[in-house]
Amino acid sequence: MTTEEKVFHCIMCPMGCELRATVEDGVVLRVTGNQCPRGAKYARDEITAPRRMLTTTVRIAGGVLPLLPVVSAAPLPKDRILDCACALRNVTATAPVRAGDVVAADILGLGVDIVASRDMALR
Ligand code: SF4
Repeated sequence: MTTEEKVFHCIMCPMGCELRATVEDGVVLRVTGNQCPRGAKYARDEITAPRRMLTTTVRIAGGVLPLLPVVSAAPLPKDRILDCACALRNVTATAPVRAGDVVAADILGLGVDIVASRDMALR
């Protein structure tokens, strides 16, 4: 039986609380340092199944700019972020686009859409 304490900062809001998680054989026993429940959830998720938002760009045809900023509509599994970014290299959006439009639905079958993070008018 191995018990360890992991220390990291919550990234769910600008407060950046220092979290301490007691982990025994991969199971989170206790989280302290969080000032709200979101911090405890973040700590548990970070240890058992870390997720991150993906922000990047894709090509866009006919837009006033050559690249369209995009973002995942929800956090993706951290270990699949690079795969998702690679998949987006093959995506070309078509102008005009509105912020929030889905650019790549259900990326890699992970249940998360990639959406435009800004409007892009026709050239
Ligand atoms: S624990 Fe709550 S208050 Fe602290 S950084 Fe996370 S979300 Fe913000």
